[in-house]
Amino acid sequence: MIRPASCPICRKPVAAPAEGVPHWFPFCSERCRQVDLLRWSQGKYAIVEPLTPERLAEEAEKTDDGEE
Ligand SMILES: [Zn+2]
Repeated sequence: MIRPASCPICRKPVAAPAEGVPHWFPFCSERCRQVDLLRWSQGKYAIVEPLTPERLAEEAEKTDDGEE
C-alpha cells in the first residue's frame, strides 16, 4: 500500500524512496528536518510550569513576609 506522503513542514509532496531511506525522511529535505527539530526544541522551552492553588498559596506566603 503506497500512500502519497507530504512534508510535515512545507506540505510539499515527498516521493517515497525507491531504495533506502534518506535520513531526513519523512521530510522533503534536510532543511525541513532541521525546521522541525527547531520547532520541537522551541516548544519544549515554551512549556511553562502550571500554577496550582498550592503553589499560588506558597508564593503568597513568601511575599507576605514582614506584614503585620
Ligand atoms: Zn519540506
